[in-house]
Amino acid sequence: MSNKRFYIETYGCQMNFADTEVVNSILMDDGMSPVQAAEDADIIFVNTCSIRENAETRVWNRLKEFRSLKKEKSHLTVGVMGCMAERIKEKIIDQEQLVDIVVGPDAYRDIPNLFKEVEDGRKAVNVLLSLEETYADITPVRTSGNGVTAFVSIMRGCDNMCAFCVVPFTRGRERSRPMSSILREVQELSDQGYKEITLLGQNVNSYKYEDIDFTRLMDETSKVNPEVRFRFSSPHPKDFPEPLLHLIAERPNLCNYIHIPAQAGSDTMLERMRRPYTRQQYLSLIDRMREIIPDVSLSTDMIAGFCDETEEEHEATMSLMKLVEYDLAYMFAYSERERTLAHRKYEDNVPEDVKKRRLTQIIQQQMSIQEKNNEKEIGRRHLVLVEGTSKRSEEQLSGRTDTNKMVVFDREEYQKGDYVEVEIIDSTSATLKARPIRKSSIAEFYNRETVAV
Ligand code: SF4
Repeated sequence: MSNKRFYIETYGCQMNFADTEVVNSILMDDGMSPVQAAEDADIIFVNTCSIRENAETRVWNRLKEFRSLKKEKSHLTVGVMGCMAERIKEKIIDQEQLVDIVVGPDAYRDIPNLFKEVEDGRKAVNVLLSLEETYADITPVRTSGNGVTAFVSIMRGCDNMCAFCVVPFTRGRERSRPMSSILREVQELSDQGYKEITLLGQNVNSYKYEDIDFTRLMDETSKVNPEVRFRFSSPHPKDFPEPLLHLIAERPNLCNYIHIPAQAGSDTMLERMRRPYTRQQYLSLIDRMREIIPDVSLSTDMIAGFCDETEEEHEATMSLMKLVEYDLAYMFAYSERERTLAHRKYEDNVPEDVKKRRLTQIIQQQMSIQEKNNEKEIGRRHLVLVEGTSKRSEEQLSGRTDTNKMVVFDREEYQKGDYVEVEIIDSTSATLKARPIRKSSIAEFYNRETVAV
């Protein structure tokens, strides 16, 4: 047992933030206590992301800052966890002398032992990937966040091997967490007053534990508390389960929002990226989603400038986004990652200025689509879950609709954690402005909506 104080700085995706909450639990079980500032810590961990070059650059700079802190506090221990630990362990330990501990995403249980090695004057490394580890018996400890929305990881790793992606190499093969463990955590969060839960996985529709698939899991979790709403991230277009669409359409607390990464718009590019679906198959899935869930909101991931990308292929990406008219998109220029199939097989040959120009075109088109989509919201009623005070003004609250759109409105008597029925009165490409009508619940709002229709 140790009474040391620890600080974890987390970068990257929601999976990383969920992992930090698991590590909080492991360290606190070992007698340590979390602090909110690096200066107050005896142990600093950086939970890292490797998805693009700039994500890693930010971590290197931060580690250099901690080196100067280490000069002031000789007993300070600095550790790197997450995807960078897995991807470039040698470089972190050998070349830079920056850290004492390097621990990969499947080895967090070993951290207390790794400390002992450091206390004995050795560098400590454990980056072994596992075929079983899901941390199912560990209750994550949430030391940050708004206390209203939470993320629950349901599986780890990915078997898809998309040509540009480093995740299968840093997080290993797919494995699903037992449903009983997920339901236990969901029940605890509901009892603690959380009002929204997002189920997390690199590719959630591949969830499979014994004979339980993802649709069954969503069915069981959404029954835990009908006044807690559920989202999920990220599915894959290749095997999106239609029964799940019907479940979302009938279950009020399953959000009418689906993040469905396309990555590109042409068959030739999808094939090079190892995305096992065609443009037409993707568009048919989108049509099916809109048939079954008429007001479903859609978002996606898009990459500009992947290896050998022609102007025609870029135009195909633009035209697909124009056709689908997503409500939101995460858009990036291709960043080559070592060990990926693309790194081994292709050349990163689209010039940086061309990548930039294409990405700018994609972003500009998407912003004008979002502007138009949000204008159509004016006059509509939505149920907003208040997440806190708006960044714009203390007098306003912010939260999101069931369709994952950000809304701000005057505070009046409402507060964080309330479901508030609002009417949209104005819009921009990123935010909706609303007039609050009444405090409500999911059941009340949908009963009213059904009557109104
Ligand atoms: S589905 Fe593809 S992009 Fe997503 S994590 Fe897996 S390999 Fe990466």
